[in-house]
Amino acid sequence: MLEDKNQQRTSLENLGEFGLINHLTKHFEIQHTSTLKGIGDDAAVLNFKDKNAVVSTDLLVEGVHFDLSYMPLKHLGYKSVMVNLSDIYAMNAIATQITVSIAISNRFPLEALEEFYAGVAQACNVYNVDLIGGDTTSSTKGMLISITAIGMAKTEKLVYRSGAKENDLLVVSGDLGGAYLGLQVLEREKEVFKVNPNNQPDLEPYSYIVERQLKPEARMDIVELLEKLEVKPTSMIDISDGLSSEILHLCANSEVGCNLFEDKIPLDPTVISTSEEFKMDSTTIALSGGEDYELLFTIDQTDFPKIKANPNLTVIGHIAAKEEGTHLVTRANTKIALTAQGWNSFNEE
Ligand SMILES: [Mg+2]
Repeated sequence: MLEDKNQQRTSLENLGEFGLINHLTKHFEIQHTSTLKGIGDDAAVLNFKDKNAVVSTDLLVEGVHFDLSYMPLKHLGYKSVMVNLSDIYAMNAIATQITVSIAISNRFPLEALEEFYAGVAQACNVYNVDLIGGDTTSSTKGMLISITAIGMAKTEKLVYRSGAKENDLLVVSGDLGGAYLGLQVLEREKEVFKVNPNNQPDLEPYSYIVERQLKPEARMDIVELLEKLEVKPTSMIDISDGLSSEILHLCANSEVGCNLFEDKIPLDPTVISTSEEFKMDSTTIALSGGEDYELLFTIDQTDFPKIKANPNLTVIGHIAAKEEGTHLVTRANTKIALTAQGWNSFNEE
């Protein structure tokens, strides 16, 4: 549908594995002093001195996590890195290195991998991380991507899921639901395209939510902002599966309850209008949609004055005693129990 018209196809067989890795990674430069040795030996060597290393891994599978009929490979490279960096920032740490491993079938030429690595390179530049290793191998069908992200933080900076206390405020960055609705728009246009391949989709009215789906940004800026505001969250998690399930993770790990207020959930105007177009409830989408990669965290009430004027942060509720349970307080002021509808269960409905 949005396929690259680049017709040049260089077969991977001519390069060999080490030739391929060297070809794809030769322009990556080392930016961190903690990277003592990057690509080029049996293993990378990292030295964080007085800091802790934070490590997170994700595996992305074609047909399950991404669809190449509307996901350009450069965006896929960028997004694959974002998915991982988001988990590092959710620890209140700074991402410093990544490894990138891919398995691909022989239907992909070298040019396709170059596009993918161009996206990885852009992410490395924007987020200041070093590519320090990885692997490329063949798959019988489709593409698999595994990225490991490494970050660092001093012990006193680290934030876990388990620190929320009664009366803490529940805060979210950015706005929610856009990535899921962007996916709905792209899926719809894909079906239109199947029926009439001459029909070029007009995605302009949906540019914000399509970008949220195809090119999300991990919230490094929020970690930096919190540092500047001198606010250390009591607990934190990134929103990969939808607000509802992430809140439940925080509450379960912290052994607390919460009240989330429906009218406080931040929604972009495009999310509201597109929800109406798809005859879906925008609150349900924010609660269950997923892939927004915003940060959800709790703060002590005494820190509220430091964040209240900030347009990037919204207080959406508060932490309650465990016995009170986890609830959504609706616009009609009724309390309903929060349920963990993740991305997958939501799709099956
Ligand atoms: Mg996470």
